[in-house]
Amino acid sequence: MNALVRRAVARAGIPCLWRGKCFSSGKEPAESNRVTPMLRHLRYKIKSTGPITVAEYMKEVLTNPAKGYYVHHDMLGEKGDFITSPEISQIFGELLGIWFVSEWMTSGKSPAFQLVELGPGRGTLTGDILRVFSQLGSVLKTCDISIHLVEVSQKLSEIQAQVLTEEKLPVERDAESLVYMKGVTKSGIPVSWYRDLKDVPKGYSFYLAHEFFDVLPVHKFQKTPQGWREVLVDIDPQVSDKLRFVLAPCATPAEAFIQHDERRDHVEVCPDAGIIIQELSQRIASTGGAALIADYGHDGTKTDTFRGFCGHQLHDVLTAPGTADLTADVDFSYLRRMVQGKVASLGPVEQRTFLKNMGIDVRLKVLLDKADEPSTKRQLLQGYDMLMNPQKMGERFNFFALLPHQRLHGANQERNARQSKTPASSVPGFDDLVWQ
Ligand code: SAH
Repeated sequence: MNALVRRAVARAGIPCLWRGKCFSSGKEPAESNRVTPMLRHLRYKIKSTGPITVAEYMKEVLTNPAKGYYVHHDMLGEKGDFITSPEISQIFGELLGIWFVSEWMTSGKSPAFQLVELGPGRGTLTGDILRVFSQLGSVLKTCDISIHLVEVSQKLSEIQAQVLTEEKLPVERDAESLVYMKGVTKSGIPVSWYRDLKDVPKGYSFYLAHEFFDVLPVHKFQKTPQGWREVLVDIDPQVSDKLRFVLAPCATPAEAFIQHDERRDHVEVCPDAGIIIQELSQRIASTGGAALIADYGHDGTKTDTFRGFCGHQLHDVLTAPGTADLTADVDFSYLRRMVQGKVASLGPVEQRTFLKNMGIDVRLKVLLDKADEPSTKRQLLQGYDMLMNPQKMGERFNFFALLPHQRLHGANQERNARQSKTPASSVPGFDDLVWQ
């Protein structure tokens, strides 16, 4: 059995529940009132300064350096809390690798580029992309590639290093430095770790964020007869070990992020997503490259999407904080607004459309033809079904891209290219893949 197929078998066979499934925000607590270290910390915080915003709650629960869920946990895969596309099938990462190579070729085969991944999880996606880069070695041989991973999790960064780096060359660590780890991948490419996108060197780069934006903290607002009121997290006065949602008694600063003509009666806004999109847009506008963002989300239409996952089950977002993943759907219309015309944005398009345009059917056929065991074929087909089926991940997940204006419309037409949804020049995934 071919090595690629073997890896697909290992991954595609996992019975799983993905985070993109649409649930309301937690009416089925998996465990009730467990006093976790995070709950103690939050109780103390709320007692000293009053109820906190949902954004502050998410930030503390997920990324607090001492107790955060992401910081010390490996939550991905069968034994974890949820599963993601790169963990389901190798084909996913391979097609994304082809997307980056195709963009690099179309935009003039620059002599060097950085691949920057935000929130790389177990390092699987970058690993699959690097395998494509190796397989296309004859095309990329003169190109100087480096890998840059933005990761706040100590635990996951260690797993990424194990997955990606050459064991014989030890990883260098310096917790005090902006580059807190450095190594060399199995194919000899330098790889560096950062806690913040701002710390990644500026330069011609391809950026990737898969299931990253959905974990960024959101503020939640409810429309009331008195106007927008922010949803806050407070201690339940009846049960001191329990948290509850309350509404702020008056307007709060994050209300500024709500559109003036907003028609929904409940909204979630994510200022951190806006900051990251602005940084990406600025970088791509000044040094070139592209960003590919894939996540579950909506185009400014949904209301209450905040939810928790633990052990592949829906989990009440306020119960046993620190033991479950918290997530909210990405608002792609907000991301598009935050580009502010600096670059062109494409999408969102559904995952099944993007992968189909990228040639998933051809790749599946190649792997099926190479597979010598019926169980391998079955598992490849199961992985394909999971990624593509509209009832599974095919429609819930979306692709969104940022590209320099001149990539789509030529340098003279930049002004007309603002926030285009239909490119004049074809971009793979958003159109059929055509090798130039
Ligand atoms: N992209 C991976 C993992 C998704 S889970 C996949 O698809 O399999 C979210 C990832 O983002 C984890 O690696 C988590 O540690 C990281 N993360 C969460 N908040 C972050 C932040 N504020 N900055 C950088 N990384 C973050």
